[in-house]
Amino acid sequence: MDLSAFDLKGRVALITGGAHGIGFSIAEGMAKCGAAICFNCSSEASLEKGLAAYKAAGIDAHGYVADVSDEDAVNAMVAKIKAEVGPVDILVNNAGITKDNLIMRMSEADFDRVIEVNLKGAFNTIHAAARQMIRQKSGKIVNIASVSGVLGNAGQANYAAAKAGIIGLTKTIAREFAGRNIQVNAVAPGFIETDMTEKLSDTIREQATQQIPMKKFGHPEDVAEAVAFLTSDAASYITGQVLCVDGGMAM
Ligand code: NAD
Repeated sequence: MDLSAFDLKGRVALITGGAHGIGFSIAEGMAKCGAAICFNCSSEASLEKGLAAYKAAGIDAHGYVADVSDEDAVNAMVAKIKAEVGPVDILVNNAGITKDNLIMRMSEADFDRVIEVNLKGAFNTIHAAARQMIRQKSGKIVNIASVSGVLGNAGQANYAAAKAGIIGLTKTIAREFAGRNIQVNAVAPGFIETDMTEKLSDTIREQATQQIPMKKFGHPEDVAEAVAFLTSDAASYITGQVLCVDGGMAM
């Protein structure tokens, strides 16, 4: 990844769900641009693994355990980051889960949990971090949505609703914060090679590939490059947008 065009020196970045997968790549990209990296995850085991991965990549990252759906835990994490590293300048809401099923077979618990983590989680972190951004009159927020939230996807009523919600949240707070020098955008990945898509059967993978004009899955680095751009000053006149990183699926 050559991200030399994007200068994030002196900025403190919080990437939720940043212990591995797309979140780790986003953090790695932002570290290359000079940002101080804080990541969170939901368990001690992921924290250990994440810290080892950052160390192996030569990145001095700060890791925090907090379930993003738990408002008190998120508030405590953001306060701890402020005390230990500094106020959050860049927030990337990446933490997300899937609990797929056709709607008639989907349990209420699985619907609720996906909304709680993917949508309410972003609300919680924005609520906690934006106060400091408003005070310092600058900030960047990038919410990781999904092509499922743009197009819909059979078997993902909960996930697509949460990701469509993320897009509405992004556009609304982009308007609320536009006069405060805080830019808020969403990145909507398509099919990206990660643990989340590794679970797909060969048949589903083949069907998915057929829906992609570029006829291939993307890589976490493709998403990381889009996020590095949107969190840098190169994107300072861009707000309220949804950048699809999807090989042309949602054009
Ligand atoms: P992943 O499962 O590898 O990573 C998700 C991360 O979120 C993990 O680190 C996990 O520990 C963390 N997380 C889950 N629940 C959490 C909670 N309650 N609190 C804090 N952290 C929690 O998935 P990924 O593929 O790297 O996905 C990253 C983001 O990209 C997600 O928002 C996902 O919806 C989105 N996305 C992924 C794809 C894809 O093809 N992989 C496509 C579109 C969108």
